[in-house]
Amino acid sequence: MARTEGDRCPGVLAVHQAADGGLARVRLPGGRLTAAQLDVLRVAAAELGDGRLELTSRANIQLRGLAADGPRELSDRLYAADLLPSIAHERVRNIMASPLSGLDGETRYDVMPVVAALDEALCDRPVLAELPGRFLFALDDGRGDLAELQADVAVRALDERTALLSVGDLGVRVGWSTVPELMLAAAEAFLRVREQEWRVAEVAGGAGRILESLGLRSVDVAPVESTRVVAGVHGTALVVTVPLGSLTQEQAAALGEVRVTPWRSVVVPAGTRGLEEVGLVTTPDSPWEGVTACAGRPGCAKALADVRTDAAKHLIPRGGRVHWSGCERRCGKPAGEFVDVVAVGDGYLVDGERL
Ligand code: SF4
Repeated sequence: MARTEGDRCPGVLAVHQAADGGLARVRLPGGRLTAAQLDVLRVAAAELGDGRLELTSRANIQLRGLAADGPRELSDRLYAADLLPSIAHERVRNIMASPLSGLDGETRYDVMPVVAALDEALCDRPVLAELPGRFLFALDDGRGDLAELQADVAVRALDERTALLSVGDLGVRVGWSTVPELMLAAAEAFLRVREQEWRVAEVAGGAGRILESLGLRSVDVAPVESTRVVAGVHGTALVVTVPLGSLTQEQAAALGEVRVTPWRSVVVPAGTRGLEEVGLVTTPDSPWEGVTACAGRPGCAKALADVRTDAAKHLIPRGGRVHWSGCERRCGKPAGEFVDVVAVGDGYLVDGERL
């Protein structure tokens, strides 16, 4: 039995059948989309799906409401737009990067070129198509913004020459030139030590066994304080919050080249105009800042409420993160601390208390 069997993580071809039709997830290494690629996704959402583009907590994009023949047509369009470089690897290109890398004064080392090299090398290795769809690579430019995502294999910039390579909770200092090869070698080692586990943390002693098999002497990695990028101007970039992470046709058409973040926002060039007019948020004081929600009704058959409509009705600036869920599964919840709003059939619980 192929060990990817039972992996229900959706992709473009292996879509998830939701109550509102097929749900396809498009992986975006580094969260990057050219203006032309974003337009391909926008038009595909209009012609094949429900018209919206959903941003995910792993900086990917989802299309919903696909008909039975939608995934085939979508994959053809994505292939032509260079968004599907390897069909075999489409669900394993889970490569996140600091969205502001190279764009503001907080970058110790620009990781975006490393993302491109890692993605290309990943797609060149047939064995890595066996990785679970949840296995995550992360490249942090030194600011600590990806720390709470708990990637399986991560690097964090220490300076222009060195990075801390982490596998689970163990790490080792390495030179940048070795990073793509070592990250992929660690992923291959994971495939050798795993049985049916999806993540490194689920394998008993997994991090130590993986680093040992690579001949690397590891040290415990001290936790870094996690930072989150909020809406507003950061150096040469503008971070734009997308209410509930769902881009309408009009909003998608107002954007050009973007980097999708894990916080339901996108990075565009500073000075981009016309975004507030279409309902996008460009300042950190908006009540939408930090508010996320799962699909809820009517998109999800398990939902006990229309959480998106209810979240919009109860917008209160809280200065932190709030996640609304239609049931206890809490899909799409943010990493780290958040106010937990869960539908229970006759209302909501907020951190366990009645709303
Ligand atoms: S949290 Fe529950 S209601 Fe929301 S999308 Fe997940 S399964 Fe559906």
